[in-house]
Amino acid sequence: MYGKFKDYLQQELDGIREAGLYKEERVITSQQKAQIEVKGKQCLNFCANNYLGLSDNKRLIEAAKKAMDSRGYGMSSVRFICGCQDLHRELEKAISDYFGTEDTILYAACFDANGGVFEPLFNEQDAIISDSLNHASIIDGVRLCKAVRYRYKNADMDDLELQLKMAQAQRFRIICTDGVFSMDGNAAPLDKICELAEKYKALVMVDECHSAGVLGKTGRGITELYNLRGQVDILTGTLGKAFGGAVGGFTTGRKEIIAMLRQRSRPYLFSNSLPPAIVGAGIELFKMLSESNEHHDRLVENVEFFRAGMLAAGFDIKPTVSAICAVMLYDAKLSQVFASELQELGVFVTGFYYPVVPKGQARIRVQVSAGHTREQLQQCIDAFVVVGKKLGVLK
Ligand SMILES: *Cc1c(COP(=O)(O)O)cnc(C)c1O
Repeated sequence: MYGKFKDYLQQELDGIREAGLYKEERVITSQQKAQIEVKGKQCLNFCANNYLGLSDNKRLIEAAKKAMDSRGYGMSSVRFICGCQDLHRELEKAISDYFGTEDTILYAACFDANGGVFEPLFNEQDAIISDSLNHASIIDGVRLCKAVRYRYKNADMDDLELQLKMAQAQRFRIICTDGVFSMDGNAAPLDKICELAEKYKALVMVDECHSAGVLGKTGRGITELYNLRGQVDILTGTLGKAFGGAVGGFTTGRKEIIAMLRQRSRPYLFSNSLPPAIVGAGIELFKMLSESNEHHDRLVENVEFFRAGMLAAGFDIKPTVSAICAVMLYDAKLSQVFASELQELGVFVTGFYYPVVPKGQARIRVQVSAGHTREQLQQCIDAFVVVGKKLGVLK
């Protein structure tokens, strides 16, 4: 039987390759940080979600080792059977304190948090109103739920209002959005979303994956940026980006919602507990972030330095409130050539074009980190200028 199926797969794979969409992996032979080793060569890394520069943090590595020594390697169970240690409770408390929320539930990843948040809470009598650019995991989570689906144009509040009016037909409504959209680096207009939610009696859910640790005066995320701490019903997030970059996800918010998720959320009920090393390092991470704001302060300075340098050089950069800088090139082919020329100069960035971004909106995405030094940021800008001149993007 496999013969025919194999031919079919081979054809599909060839199609992906011909469309220029085949994803190759670069193999890193060092720790994950600002400067990495790839194929024996030192390269500058501007495409990781390592916003606070903590992926190689010594204090977190020590905490992970210590937790492994005291609580072992694995949990061999889901939470409710025999997979909950004191550490899991402690991390959930630390996350609630960080976001100013009532309670928190841990997942293996934010993909699971988003996959398991809608189905236990809403049914066919309810409505989910989703931003058109929401992350794949929210889209999948919505698909698993029987609620009626509405979609509004990215961050378009007139369209959201229209959808909310239509959704009055349902019993309960929830608006869900990414906090920061990963292609432009723009933040969801959460102040206006919450006003509309109030007016049209809707709950609000925000995915904080690219905003937590980054937005707001102390990096406490989108609710800090808009002065709405404790007022959003549901936040989801990851430990895999700003928060150390290992793995793990969470949902945090109103305590009855979290209590219901513990009873009914399928990725929580039927998937293994996070291992002690990850949980122990997570506890240390939130302790570290509460002691000092130095990592977040450095990130903000670095983003400002990089943006100023790129604008002065003459590049067209989307406005951003996050650590994501979209350098607009508009041409799909150019974005790919530009990215590979940068790679030749030892600078790793990602070029995006349709269908990942709208047609004619091709760009290079640069992700700034607190782990970058001034010299590394300048080297990146200089490389952009060299390639920009060579390819005629800069005069
Ligand atoms: C990265 C990301 C996720 C997935 O997080 P994991 O913990 O890696 O599963 C979910 N939502 C958004 C918006 C993300 O950027």
